[in-house]
Amino acid sequence: MQSSFDFIVIGGGILGLSTARQLQQRFPGKRVLVLEKENSPAQHQTGHNSGVIHAGVYYTPGSMKARFCKEGNEATKAFCREHDIPFDECGKLLVATNELELERMQGLIGRCAENELPIEVLNAEQLKAREPNITGVGGIFVPSTGIVSYTRICEKMAELVAADGGEVRYDAEVRNIRELADSVEVETEQERFAGNFMVACAGLMSDRIVRMLGQVPEFKIIPFRGEYFLLPPQHNQIVNHLIYPIPDPDLPFLGVHLTRMIDGTVTVGPNAVLAFKREGYRKTDISVRDMAEMLTYPGLLKMLARNLKPGLVEMKNSLFRRGYLEQVRKYCPQLTLDDLRAYPAGVRAQAVARDGSLVDDFLFVNTERALVVCNAPSPAATSAIPIGAHIVDQVAERGIS
Ligand SMILES: Cc1cc2nc3c(=O)[nH]c(=O)nc-3n(C[C@H](O)[C@H](O)[C@H](O)COP(=O)(O)OP(=O)(O)OC[C@H]3O[C@@H](n4cnc5c(N)ncnc54)[C@H](O)[C@@H]3O)c2cc1C
Repeated sequence: MQSSFDFIVIGGGILGLSTARQLQQRFPGKRVLVLEKENSPAQHQTGHNSGVIHAGVYYTPGSMKARFCKEGNEATKAFCREHDIPFDECGKLLVATNELELERMQGLIGRCAENELPIEVLNAEQLKAREPNITGVGGIFVPSTGIVSYTRICEKMAELVAADGGEVRYDAEVRNIRELADSVEVETEQERFAGNFMVACAGLMSDRIVRMLGQVPEFKIIPFRGEYFLLPPQHNQIVNHLIYPIPDPDLPFLGVHLTRMIDGTVTVGPNAVLAFKREGYRKTDISVRDMAEMLTYPGLLKMLARNLKPGLVEMKNSLFRRGYLEQVRKYCPQLTLDDLRAYPAGVRAQAVARDGSLVDDFLFVNTERALVVCNAPSPAATSAIPIGAHIVDQVAERGIS
């Protein structure tokens, strides 16, 4: 038996659900199906992230990341207001702790101007006045950064899709896809579905979806674990804002931050260490299939060679908490080893090209009847609403509905 739909969306993370909801809104009356392999939404990247509604400080002006993040910051807050989902526009403080970072800070100030982001530049006294427990020689305050639970947003989006006549199927792992001249067939272990068009937002599995479509992806998804610690409750008021270090411009995603979470707790993290399993949340998780695919991919070795030193430092700090702590103590010296309590890690899906470069911007692969989101690292949770709108625009342009 085969059921038919207008649109089939693979993935019940924030990108899949945002896209499904916007397909319904743009094409009223069309049948939308979401297939998610887990038993509830947001079980992977979306439910294991920092919960930050980013403002868009670091991204290359003109990139999709820069544009969608800025639009997404407002759209996410508007969605939360409309649906009574708690969020906190607590602002973010980037803290320079030495002369080199002060110099790098100038670059970020320029970036914020190019990206038209309102900021306040603080000297050491102003920094101390805003954050008595933080030490630094200067900083940038970004007022529009916020915090939220992206899992809550996904639950609401899934509810809206179902309330509007769509179907969200859990425990439905897509195993095969067949693209025909006038439709696309998608198979789970239990069932087969036909659609006019398919969108895949499969995160850590996106390259495998491309293969299912009969294409050879020009990248591979490499998983990077992001490890966090939770501060004990007596430190829940230790900071008023989110505290970020000034990053090395060549490695802007490195550097652990202090994050106030929407439930009132404070986390430290995440770092970035190579994972030995795509959905491996523990250090000891290993998948033979994932490892074999990674080790036979020429891009991985090139990437490791290029980033050898920072990669080894991240690994060392992952194994020895003292090294991890030192990164935070640079700007929050009162924290001690006892303050670092266990907290679940997340795993980032990072597309790596064959030449070993990390794909920086969001990346989409198109076929006749499908669109696959292939690289959607941070700030893709913030950007989920504009990314969904962009995908729906592409569907509309093709005249398939
Ligand atoms: C540690 C960490 C911290 C981050 N912090 C932030 C942050 O603070 N702010 C921010 O904006 N972004 C952040 N990000 C990035 C953000 O979380 C991701 O960019 C975003 O969640 C990607 O959403 P997604 O829907 O593409 O992927 P996912 O949430 O991973 O969803 C993909 C879904 O597809 C499903 N799936 C895969 N294969 C199949 C299949 N064959 N059949 C059916 N279902 C399938 C999976 O089960 C999964 O539910 C962070 C990411 C990490 C890992």
